[in-house]
Amino acid sequence: MSDTPLLAGIEAGGTKVIAVIGTGPDDTVAEMRIPTTTPSETLGAVTDFLRTQIDAGNVPAAGGIASFGPVELRRTSDRYGFITTTPKPGWSGTDMLGPISEVIGGPVAFDTDVNGAALGEGRWGAARGLDTFVYLTVGTGIGGGAIVGGRVAHGLVHAEMGHLVVPRHPGDDFAGRCPFHGDCLEGMASGPALEARWGVAPPQLSGADLDAAVEMEAWYIAHGLRSIVYVTAPERIVIGGGVSTMPGLMPRVRQSLVDALGGYPGLPEHASVDFVVPAELGAMAGPAGALALAADALAR
Ligand code: ZN
Repeated sequence: MSDTPLLAGIEAGGTKVIAVIGTGPDDTVAEMRIPTTTPSETLGAVTDFLRTQIDAGNVPAAGGIASFGPVELRRTSDRYGFITTTPKPGWSGTDMLGPISEVIGGPVAFDTDVNGAALGEGRWGAARGLDTFVYLTVGTGIGGGAIVGGRVAHGLVHAEMGHLVVPRHPGDDFAGRCPFHGDCLEGMASGPALEARWGVAPPQLSGADLDAAVEMEAWYIAHGLRSIVYVTAPERIVIGGGVSTMPGLMPRVRQSLVDALGGYPGLPEHASVDFVVPAELGAMAGPAGALALAADALAR
């Protein structure tokens, strides 16, 4: 048996919740997956799972909750650890941290699913060993987490990289799908945006349509990344999410980013194949992120 303490990781997504006990994504001793229903039913199942594990001797030293949002992350707020105003029915104003902390006893960290995934990629995945990097997920929505100097960048709220302004691809007259901004990065490049623009879901695209879709998708992601590169100065950018696996997308994003940077500031690192890389944790990204949060909570 290793000396590494057990941790509890809870990934709370909009459609499913995964809770794990373990020391890392490759070393779990128990796992529970349930659909996200009502707050009381869902959180009840999570706390039941944790209690059962603790009774069985799998006692976590710390916990991490990687939650869908928006969430309250200001520790000074009396709603710290709450989901704030979500379109998901019944979940606005839900205390996520309170009921789970009560069962775990030890420190419990709370953050967004995207920031959790960023920490997970830093600890076990594609950004191992780096202390300033960005994780961007491109799927049903677009979101990003910036780890700057080893810490998740937080302020009044978490980062909202999906809503960056991006220039329109030449010839693209698609209105965009963001309910707030229309043609922001998420509005132009999320999975639903692709489906609305091309008439089929990304995996169904083929031939010339696939080629055109990948070129356009790379353009939007790269222009979002240009702003991210200039603001956060990452050593690497890790890209995950369902849309990121479109065939041929990653090399096009790298090339399109080099073009978008226009030679400024001219660092060879920005053109390296190591600068924009696919996420490594795949299906375990969420639970790994929650475990990474727990590990951080323990180290604090
Ligand atoms: Zn937007």
